Amino acid sequence: MSEQKIQKLAGVRGMNDVLPTDAKQWLYLEKILHDLTRAYGYEFIKTPIVEATEVFQRGIGVVTDIVEKEMYSFEDRLNGEQLTLRPEGTAAVVRAVIEHNLLYDGPKRLCYMGPMFRHERPQRGRYRQFHQFGVEALGFSGPDIDVEIIVMGQRLWDELGLRGVHLEINSLGQAVERAAHREALVSYFTANAAALDEDSQRRLLTNPLRILDSKNSAMQEVIEKAPRLLDFLGAESLQHFTAVQALLKTHNIPCKINPRLVRGLDYYNLTVFEWVTTELGAQGTIAGGGRYDPLVERMGGKAAPACGWAMGIERVLELMAISGSVPEAESVCDIYILHQGGETLTAAFIAAEQLRSAGIDTILFCAPDGQTASFKSQMKKADASGAAFAVIIGPDELALNEAQIKDLRGQGEQHAVPLTKLLDAIIDSLVSASE
Ligand code: ATP
Ligand code: MG
Repeated sequence: MSEQKIQKLAGVRGMNDVLPTDAKQWLYLEKILHDLTRAYGYEFIKTPIVEATEVFQRGIGVVTDIVEKEMYSFEDRLNGEQLTLRPEGTAAVVRAVIEHNLLYDGPKRLCYMGPMFRHERPQRGRYRQFHQFGVEALGFSGPDIDVEIIVMGQRLWDELGLRGVHLEINSLGQAVERAAHREALVSYFTANAAALDEDSQRRLLTNPLRILDSKNSAMQEVIEKAPRLLDFLGAESLQHFTAVQALLKTHNIPCKINPRLVRGLDYYNLTVFEWVTTELGAQGTIAGGGRYDPLVERMGGKAAPACGWAMGIERVLELMAISGSVPEAESVCDIYILHQGGETLTAAFIAAEQLRSAGIDTILFCAPDGQTASFKSQMKKADASGAAFAVIIGPDELALNEAQIKDLRGQGEQHAVPLTKLLDAIIDSLVSASE
């Protein structure tokens, strides 16, 4: 009988596995993010990965790249509900905040982290499943909170030692100002319609501001000369923008005003910003955000001002690698325990649990065939684990109720201790090894 070869399965295009070596870098970044949120009093919120499609249609805006062509939307086979894998975090956070009435006792500082899904063309820094960390400050209207979240981002880049990150800011003003600008924009782009691609010609009628956000390089010249929204801002919007810039100056955060910065989502007003770098090729934006005062009401809640930003974790990790901000290689464990199966395995297992209860990271040798292996081959694994000490419990040791402790990093010294004193002896050894 011929053996049929079973085909390997592959992951979905644009969706990546994070393998153990890379996972270390992720954990390091996540720890820094947790510390950062604590330092500023932002609390984590977790929302489901799937939401009703309407959450994003209303939250992001129907005439946006994300909603028009990037969402993974489907009908629930069992009840016909229209659902979507979340493409970003803010709309869902605001949905949850309203649903659970989180603003009842005043403003909230929130943050989130997790996978997002967009059906884009996979390339460096652009994936179909990617991860974001984001902060949202809800219920605060002043420019000070815009600056708080920007300062927070800056502290993060500094702490991660990221190279070449620059802040760009702009103001989108308020709806009436955008309406006046929109008229000027429509007549300008109508006069230059031949220079617009198909998408932008369509947007000329639906959402002309979005044309400024186009990534089509052939259109950059016509976009460059378009009327600037900044020139349409009234006194109040300008005052907010000026205050933000002044506060950034106070905190020594250099920024560039980019009048073309409109952001890819529909809900922003007043301050918008992005952190960009030239180190990552075409996908140079590591994080972006701004104020989105209209959103809470638009999602069905009682009107409340808000602002936030989101960063792409994969892009930040890549920039960390380029900047050389790699965490010190940590060993997998402190102690590696060797045995010869049978009763020695039982004793070794008990010893391992005892060490772990005392907070000592311990790997117990386990043979792939469920039997045992020579001490020589076990010792190779112990060395490779990066452990500081090996603990050996063979039949000879067990007969004496002892274990051998072997120094794996120094001269390889070895000494016997009674099993009942193993924990104390290991603590002593670890303490003197770290001195
Ligand atoms: P871009 O202009 O690169 O498409 P965006 O404006 O669509 O970004 P946002 O919606 O503001 O991005 O998301 C915030 C951050 O999330 C981005 O600055 C980027 O770092 C990251 N990001 C967005 N889309 C992707 C993706 N498809 N793959 C990886 N990271 C992404
Ligand atoms: Mg995008």
